[in-house]
Amino acid sequence: MDMEKLVSLCKRRGFIFPSSEIYGGLNGFWDYGPLGVELKRNIKDAWWQDNVRSRDDMVGLDCSIIMNPKVWEASGHVGGFSDPMVDCRACKARFRADQLWCIELIPDTDKDTGEPSHFFFTGLGTTEEAWEKNKKKMDKIARHSANPLRSTNLFTAIKEEARKLMPCPECEQAGNLTEPRAFNLMFKTYVGALEESSSVAYLRPETAQGIFVNFKNVCDTGRVKVPFGIAQIGKSFRNEITPRNFTFRSREFEQMEIEFFCHPDQAAEWYKYWRDTRFKWWTDLGLKSEKLRLRDHDKDELAFYSTATADIEYEFPFGVSELEGIAHRGDYDLTQHQKFSGKDLSYFDEEKKERYVPHVIEPSAGADRGTLAFLCEAYTEDTVGGETRTVLKFHPRLAPIKAAVFPLVKRDGMPELAEKIYRDLKSQFNVFHDQTGAIGRRYRRQDEAGTPFGITVDSQTLTDGTVTFRDRDSCRQWRVPSSGVVPALRDLLDGHPVPATEGAGTSGSDPIPQD
Ligand code: ATP
Repeated sequence: MDMEKLVSLCKRRGFIFPSSEIYGGLNGFWDYGPLGVELKRNIKDAWWQDNVRSRDDMVGLDCSIIMNPKVWEASGHVGGFSDPMVDCRACKARFRADQLWCIELIPDTDKDTGEPSHFFFTGLGTTEEAWEKNKKKMDKIARHSANPLRSTNLFTAIKEEARKLMPCPECEQAGNLTEPRAFNLMFKTYVGALEESSSVAYLRPETAQGIFVNFKNVCDTGRVKVPFGIAQIGKSFRNEITPRNFTFRSREFEQMEIEFFCHPDQAAEWYKYWRDTRFKWWTDLGLKSEKLRLRDHDKDELAFYSTATADIEYEFPFGVSELEGIAHRGDYDLTQHQKFSGKDLSYFDEEKKERYVPHVIEPSAGADRGTLAFLCEAYTEDTVGGETRTVLKFHPRLAPIKAAVFPLVKRDGMPELAEKIYRDLKSQFNVFHDQTGAIGRRYRRQDEAGTPFGITVDSQTLTDGTVTFRDRDSCRQWRVPSSGVVPALRDLLDGHPVPATEGAGTSGSDPIPQD
């Protein structure tokens, strides 16, 4: 699928617009239009329903975006881990050091002697950790080579040599990349009237910390017992260096995060549970294809406090990238906040008379990346009745509009009947009413919006009181008594199968009605 086609459809049909577009937009910021806001809301609602409301062991939270800045000292966002960046001195492009390079060293062989003579560097990790991680590998290759670097401080020498040879991914000139430098991704602001250092605060770069700092409050309400989770959906802000790939990497985005607190002895089991449960959630909502993957991090990829982490990745048109991360974070976060706040954040198990700091499993998903993945997955071009159409095959639960109601023609009382059906449905579902243009065109417009069902009042309605239902994906049609439209739509949205085609209809065509 061509990403440009999707971006253009999103603009044309009102899913996603560049932010403040009439002023030229703002890099890394996006607005959701009338269809987009419904789609994203349905995704967030499905997440909330399935992870919070339908469970006995989860409660919700909605905390403030700006918090006491100490929170970010404890979490390590201030002063600690900020992404190391590399600049190209030639073209001024800036890159996240850990995302730049695949790491490989290939020794070249001398043509005459057949002995290894020097290295080819096909891209090297530029962070200290990446160097350290690959030190062994580099040493091993070096030992087998006749390279003069061998005799001196091998590691440092390779490192320096490699930097000289590294090409910039943007302008492809070698030798212009700087050392990795720290760059803080948090947006800074000031609380109150005075812009001075004591009033500095930050827009949160993740929703997770708000959950940790409320752990004691939630426990004290008495409704919860470990194991249990706290879930939150909300905006996060990161001053990303290179926002790109449509909404995939934005500077303002929404996260859907769970912190699941459990006994240390049970943490490994809960980690496995959440890793599998979260993967299944995406597939149940339609990311069924081989494009969805669950990737366990290698030991050397893990954050120092994590014993296991997995990414749920999706193959976007621009590459395979993370949709959600599931991390076993141990007791790192609660312990850090105990240290920085001086408050006791341990948990007392009344039954076992045991006090401990719970371990945490964190499934952390992006609502915008989710929306983008569902859009990519849904985008389909096929042929109906000899005509090419673009259709968004959303899961009915996620579709922005659940059904569109049409009068076949604007006479014989059909518009009035269609209007009544529309009104009856409107109180329960997000439905649409359209009576302009040829019926085929109206179907196509709804196909592009991803509306799963069409309901048409036609001439047969006037004689036997039935209306035509049309299925978006197969274009099958069947008739339903107009008095039963509401329960019929409910059944379909609940997953009841589309009935077999009746009368003239054949799969893959739009037989009736016609203008
Ligand atoms: P990446 O490596 O792609 O920057 P991350 O590992 O830093 O992502 P986390 O901090 O684990 O991301 O955040 C959890 C989730 O939040 C991600 O899986 C993603 O869905 C979402 N997310 C993070 N950064 C962004 C962003 N800049 N734009 C949109 N969504 C984001």
